[in-house]
Amino acid sequence: MASVFTRIIQGELPARIVFQDERVIAFHDIHPVMPVHILIVPVKEIPTADDITPEDEGVLGHMLVVAQKVARELGIGDSGYRLIINCKHDGGQEVYHLHMHLLGGQRVGPIIAKRS
Ligand code: AMP
Repeated sequence: MASVFTRIIQGELPARIVFQDERVIAFHDIHPVMPVHILIVPVKEIPTADDITPEDEGVLGHMLVVAQKVARELGIGDSGYRLIINCKHDGGQEVYHLHMHLLGGQRVGPIIAKRS
């Protein structure tokens, strides 16, 4: 069965799309946790980060280029942002179609406490 993100790519489900080409789509998260919360998703149905293979290196680099472009277009290129990929259960992944969260528009809190 197609993932929820594949259904968005195929136009079967609505989304607020900010970027789309033959390899990557980017759209607003339906439940944003920050003023800017975009999901950057490869068209290829790679379930998790643990399923990435060397042949996916190109699309992964493209996801980063798209993240930079979208961040700049949404006005957070200078203030900064955080890119997150959750992987499987312990990583907090809910949708098993690889995606990168682009978070910004305010300061993102620490995920891992820094040692003093
Ligand atoms: P993750 O926990 O990393 O798997 O994140 C999945 C994200 O997908 C969550 O932040 C959800 O809010 C988001 N999400 C789920 N369904 C949709 C949808 N139909 N449109 C946009 N975002 C969605």
